[in-house]
Amino acid sequence: MRGGLCGAVLSGPGGMLVAVTVPVPVPVPAPDPEPVPAVAGAVARPPFATAADEAAMALALDEARAALETGDVPVGAVVVAADGTVLGRGRNRREADADPTAHAEVLALRAAAAAAGEWRLAGCSLVVTLEPCLMCAGAAVLARVDRVVLGAWDPKAGACGSQWDVVRDRRLNHRPEVVGGVLEAASAELLRAFFDAHRGAGPEEPDRPVDEVPVDEVPVDEVLVDEVLVDRRPGGAG
Ligand SMILES: [Zn+2]
Repeated sequence: MRGGLCGAVLSGPGGMLVAVTVPVPVPVPAPDPEPVPAVAGAVARPPFATAADEAAMALALDEARAALETGDVPVGAVVVAADGTVLGRGRNRREADADPTAHAEVLALRAAAAAAGEWRLAGCSLVVTLEPCLMCAGAAVLARVDRVVLGAWDPKAGACGSQWDVVRDRRLNHRPEVVGGVLEAASAELLRAFFDAHRGAGPEEPDRPVDEVPVDEVPVDEVLVDEVLVDRRPGGAG
């Protein structure tokens, strides 16, 4: 019953039966299962990585290594459901697919949504080897994941607390928890090795400390990994 008027038969004067209508309350639609925004000013519990997060990160690292096969920057991601099920995997395929949006996180989120048959990935964790960029942080918010678990931080292009903090912007009504630094050394080493090899194969460019490079010349697509400036232009992702 959608609500409105409902027919009824009542006794009228003299015992006659008369048909009347009585209003029926309009049912209130079930509330959208949106998370309740955190109380302003509340102190968040310190992020805590679990053993399950590390296991998922190991899978993400496997994806990252597989990205090397196509000459892509080694970044990998998995989406894990609340019960530990791996719903989706992805790795950076920007070079492989000639697609500027083919970042590991986006591909993992798409795979997870397809597996779940549901775009809303509530209860899930997005586990990725490198701090998500603006696009991927936005995608994590739109997918309604509960948590973003990341390996290495990306001070130059990260959008989960480094350069921007998209996922915890108080103007949004969904803000995933961020857990950083999970198996960070392994993620950073993978990236460092990739860029070291790539730099050796590319045209010579003088290495200058970033402080000496005019702001206008600092490519947006650079990442600092353990204080080593690495050029990401050939295939940066994250
Ligand atoms: Zn990205």
